[in-house]
Formats: sequence, C-alpha cells, structure tokens
Amino acid sequence: MQAEIIAVGTEILLGQVVDTNSAFIARELAEAGIEVYYHSLVGDNADRLTAVLERARSRSDLVIISGGLGPTKDDLTKQTVAQLLGVKLVEDEVAMAKIQHHFAVTGRKLTPNNRLQALYPAGSQSLKNTTGMAVGAFYQSPNGADMMLLPGPPSELEPMFLKEALPRLKQAYQRQEYLVSRVLRFFGIGESQLVTELGDLIANQTNPTIAPYAKETEVTLRLTASAENEAAGERLLDDMIATIKDRVGDYLYGYGDDNTLAQVVVNELIARHLTITAAESLTAGEFQSTLGDVPGVSAIFPGGFVTYANEAKHALLGVPEKTIAEQGVVSEATAKEMAERSRQKLDTDFGLSFTGVAGPDALEGQPAGTVWVGLAQRGQAPRAQLIRLAGTRAKIRERTVMTGLDWIRRILRDKK
Ligand code: ATP
Repeated sequence: MQAEIIAVGTEILLGQVVDTNSAFIARELAEAGIEVYYHSLVGDNADRLTAVLERARSRSDLVIISGGLGPTKDDLTKQTVAQLLGVKLVEDEVAMAKIQHHFAVTGRKLTPNNRLQALYPAGSQSLKNTTGMAVGAFYQSPNGADMMLLPGPPSELEPMFLKEALPRLKQAYQRQEYLVSRVLRFFGIGESQLVTELGDLIANQTNPTIAPYAKETEVTLRLTASAENEAAGERLLDDMIATIKDRVGDYLYGYGDDNTLAQVVVNELIARHLTITAAESLTAGEFQSTLGDVPGVSAIFPGGFVTYANEAKHALLGVPEKTIAEQGVVSEATAKEMAERSRQKLDTDFGLSFTGVAGPDALEGQPAGTVWVGLAQRGQAPRAQLIRLAGTRAKIRERTVMTGLDWIRRILRDKK
C-alpha cells in the first residue's frame, strides 16, 4: 500500500502559502499505517495537474489531492480528475441544499460556479464538508490508483480528513494486523549520535519500525509495531524499548507526542512534594515561564528571581559584589551563589541558576554560548556545571533552560 500526496495551488507554488495540508495528511497516514512515498506540489494549471496526476496514478495505490475544489475559475482539481478517470461530475444533493440555503440566508444570488462546489466525480463517495461548502471525494478504482479529493483551506481539510476520509481509508485498506506506536523522547544526545548508537537496530528494522526525528532541542524516536492484537504489539514495543534503553536510556526522558521535559520534571516534583525556584540571568525568566506552562506547578514553585544585571544579583539575591568582581559574572562561583541564595530565600528543595553569554557578542572575554548552570539542593553544597552551546541567542537560552530541567530530572531519577 503506497500513498502519495499532491498539493494544488499556485499560491503554494509561489511560497505565499505554506503547504501544511500535506504535512497534516502525511502524519495522519503514518499513524494509520499507510506509507507515503511522494509529495508533489503543482499550480492551478490543468495540463500540469494532469501530468502530475498521471505520474502519481502510475506509481501509487492511493493519491490524495488537496486544493482546487472551490468555485473560482482557477479551481480545477475536480474537473481534471474526472476527465482523467473518464467519469462525469455529479451533484451531492445534501451539499447543494446547504449551498442554496447559505445563499438564501445571506441574500446573495447563487451563481452557476457556486454549484460546482457540490459536484464530485461519479462513482466516488462524496465527503461531507462540515466547515465549508466544497464536498470532497473518495474514488476507489477497480483497476488503478484510488483517488481522494480534499478542499484547500486547512480549516475544512482537517475535519474532513479526520471525520470523513480516515474512517473510509481504514475500512478500504484494513489490515489484519493491529498497529501500535510509541514515541520516545530524548534530551542531551544529538540525532546523529542517537542514530549511531542504534545503527544496527535502525538498519535492520522490520517490526517494530524505528523513525528518528530531530527537533531544535531534542530528538524523538517513533516505534511502530504491527501484530495480531494490541497486547502482542505492545510486547514487541516493550522488547525494543528495553534494548534501546540499554544503549541510550540515560538520555530518555519520557514518552508520548506532547510530553515535554518540563512536564516530566514538574510532575515528578509534584509527585514527590519537592519545591523548586530559580535565579535567572541570561534566560531572563524563561526557565520559570517554562515551568509555568505546566498545570499544577504552583504546588512546587513559589516563585523566583530574574537577576539580569550584576546589581540585581546583589540586591535581590545578596550575591557578594566581591564574588562577581573577582570570579566574573559568568563563573562557577556566581552560579553557585545564585542557586543557593535563591533556594534559601524561598526555602525550596531545589534552586537552579543560569548565568552565561546568550550572544551574539562575547562577555568578560567568554564566547557566546558559555553558560554556567548552578544547582542548590537542600542539605547539600551547591554545584555548578559549565555548558558550551552553539546557535542563535534564542536557541542558546532555550537549551540552557532544557539543561537545567534535565539536571533536575537526572537527580530525581537517581534518587528513586
Ligand atoms: P475554496 O473553496 O476556499 O476556494 P479550495 O478547495 O478551492 O477552497 P484552494 O482555492 O486551493 O482551495 O485554496 C484555498 C486556500 O486554502 C488557499 O488560499 C490557502 O490559504 C489554503 N490552502 C490551500 N492549499 C493549502 C495547503 N496545501 N496547505 C495549507 N493551506 C492551503
């Protein structure tokens, strides 16, 4: 089963609109276990669209096309597909009634081109558009590729795909197996290193499949297993995850599409009734703001400090001016002072601090990306670690925040 996706629209070709539809469809198809081999993009031109459709039909089992279902002259996807299939366009009565009602209510005249939106290629199943006028279509061909037509606006395409298209695709291509997938999230290891550590597993992958994906500050692996039932699929995943953990478990912080490092850390702190604060220089509150994104954080985060200038480090935290003058503001000593003093002031279990050079300019002779992260823990001497980061100012600050969170995660893990 090989699928391909075609986005139609001159505005996308010219870069005026970003093709989010194809990405959305591709993600959903992957979840459903349908493999996508090609994406194409073509303007509103019948000849070129025909050529792209012919090529797609010759090499794929399913072709999904978005855009060009509307009423205007440049919307010619339906007509072109119908011509290629050698079928007429027929009317969806429910959709036509909806269009007529809309025009009656708004007091506008229904022009023939608007009727076009209720048409779909004969022999297809029409797909209801709950957020717009143009119907979609799913054409199952007896002797060629199946075709699916979807509207261009994402606000129409996404609900139509989820509610109308996906159930039909699942029914049409229902496999005997069950598909189960899990996402593993890593921080502190680059994609290339992760892929190297897991090289043989990735090269020999069959079931489960292993798909790495690198984001700005972290890497994820999506494992997908197919089996005769869900429990058997879960067992296959468990076995593979155990092998992966043996090699790179140190960097694995969590599971799931939306499970952020901040969520993992905050939820663990809540579960253990441990409180945290921070004193932030180069991150200027970003760490605390990240904590604030997690619901329920108030149970473990009373507040904290943004101490950007040296004077603020002294005035708000009491960091001795001498420490800053003699050791430098970007130093182990200052990081430790900031962490411990913030912790003491709010009487928390943990105090983190961030002092460093966000860039682009150097500071105190230290290059951009030089960062000290301090950590104070109740009953222990404060510590600090030096990290050297590359990239833009925003990326350096974001990675700094993630490093602080990951340090806490590791301590909590080791304390178990
Ligand atoms: P309409 O009835 O609105 O004309 P349509 O199905 O004819 O719908 P198009 O005319 O091709 O769709 O596109 C309408 C708008 O939808 C575009 O201007 C663009 O904003 C958005 N759009 C189209 N295709 C995509 C895409 N692949 N990704 C994201 N947005 C898209």
